[in-house]
Amino acid sequence: ATDHTRYDLVVIGGGPGGYSAAFRAADTGLRTAIVERYGTLGGVCLNVGCIPSKALLHVAAVREEAERIADMGIRFGAPQIDLQALRTFKDGTVTRLTDGLNQMAAARRVTVIRGTAKFVSATRLEVAGEGASSQQIDFGQCIIATGSRAVQLAVLPKDGRIVTSTGALSLRSIPGRMLVIGAGIIGLEMATVYSALGAKIDLVERLSDILAGVDADAVKIWRSRNAHRFEHIDLDSSVSTAAVTPDGVTVAITGASVETRSYDLVLQSAGRVPNSGELGLERIGVAIDPNGFIQVDEQMRTTARNVFAIGDVVGGSMLAHKAVHEGHVAAEVAAGKPAAFTAKIVPNVAYTDPEIAWVGKSVRDVAESGGKIRSAKFPWAASGRAIASGASYGLTKLLFDVETGRIVGGVIVGPHAGDMIGEICLAIEMGADAIDIGKTIHPHPTLGETIGMAAEVHEGICTDLP
Ligand code: FAD
Repeated sequence: ATDHTRYDLVVIGGGPGGYSAAFRAADTGLRTAIVERYGTLGGVCLNVGCIPSKALLHVAAVREEAERIADMGIRFGAPQIDLQALRTFKDGTVTRLTDGLNQMAAARRVTVIRGTAKFVSATRLEVAGEGASSQQIDFGQCIIATGSRAVQLAVLPKDGRIVTSTGALSLRSIPGRMLVIGAGIIGLEMATVYSALGAKIDLVERLSDILAGVDADAVKIWRSRNAHRFEHIDLDSSVSTAAVTPDGVTVAITGASVETRSYDLVLQSAGRVPNSGELGLERIGVAIDPNGFIQVDEQMRTTARNVFAIGDVVGGSMLAHKAVHEGHVAAEVAAGKPAAFTAKIVPNVAYTDPEIAWVGKSVRDVAESGGKIRSAKFPWAASGRAIASGASYGLTKLLFDVETGRIVGGVIVGPHAGDMIGEICLAIEMGADAIDIGKTIHPHPTLGETIGMAAEVHEGICTDLP
């Protein structure tokens, strides 16, 4: 390769993990390139994930809130939904961010190469561009940040009415009846959007509850607040057959019995798999686990010494903020700095209505590991701000290790739960106990105050400040 196609560091994939790694590497002085097969940076998160979904969820939440405040004295007429304008708002949100990334890449002199990368050797990539064009790029070190894609269920035929989250976010039309397969975060967020736009939703989930593993009190609140969205919720059930007809998609759902129903749109949100298969990893000795996730150590190094991997393609929490942190670690290690991924916890948020945010250990985790935990609940029915905002159904719950007294987990249900969970993350990372949190003065009246109050509940010193 000629001089200008050699980089100190090449990052494969321009998602949150990849661009964060590339920017950090460039900031430390490494000559850096990103190879991205799509036309824009930002990966799944900015283009077809976190950001467009949040744009639509914002609109959905406002539309439903407008209805709810009828009881508080303001009534609006029936909503008129302009799908084209909604798509324009969503797409504009995405474009603003992806354009910003291009500027940030240019400002740092990070070269963005458009194409699909594959390893030729442990120091060389082949990048296939449009048509038959291809180029070779040499690197000193490489970070694999190729992300993940939605599982395609074998039972579902190929048809425009059977989509993954990407198809659902394109918002082609509002279906009369929609089936959501998989009651994880993505499935529930999409169900929220389409239900707010007027679709009747059915939900099918292989496991015995929605948001498997999440605190039972939180899930109970979510289910009672969202019961109106769903005609059927089939738990312990899965789609056993599906056929496409001119009128829709006919699906058999098998659980305790078999139900056959017809839908205008079917969303498969049954998990995501890593994009590791087409990279030629076997050629350079990068090991993957049985599910295809690339194996890494805490410096994000793969089994090939000069190759790192980060983000969804290494598994664990498949979330953008985890990818970003891992990207920073890999870039710093590549630059010779003493970095490692040492985060104790990664927070999760379902940006539904209400939001649920959770982090750290759950009651079940602790029970399974034989530890002792005390939970401190603060129901929002005792929060002045929650009552004044129509959110008295909310809950803040903190979990403390009985032996050490330290906080080990937390869950929040209600508006802005995702914005508030960061405080619990900080408390866990810093090894705070209930007194640290309870004696920290939180502003009144706020929803965040419920965190301080939950800690005081734990200490048995809860004030009666409403
Ligand atoms: P990705 O974002 O998947 O990026 C990988 C990039 O690599 C892609 O752009 C891909 O085109 C490129 N690529 C792959 N292979 C090659 C190759 N061989 N050559 C060149 N380029 C390649 N996470 C959150 O934290 N919060 C949320 O609210 C949230 N909402 C989500 C909503 C939806 C609908 C979905 C699907 C996901 C959501 N996520 C959310 C998850 C989040 O999108 C991912 O965790 C995040 O994008 C992972 O980042 P990444 O950098 O690992 O990979």
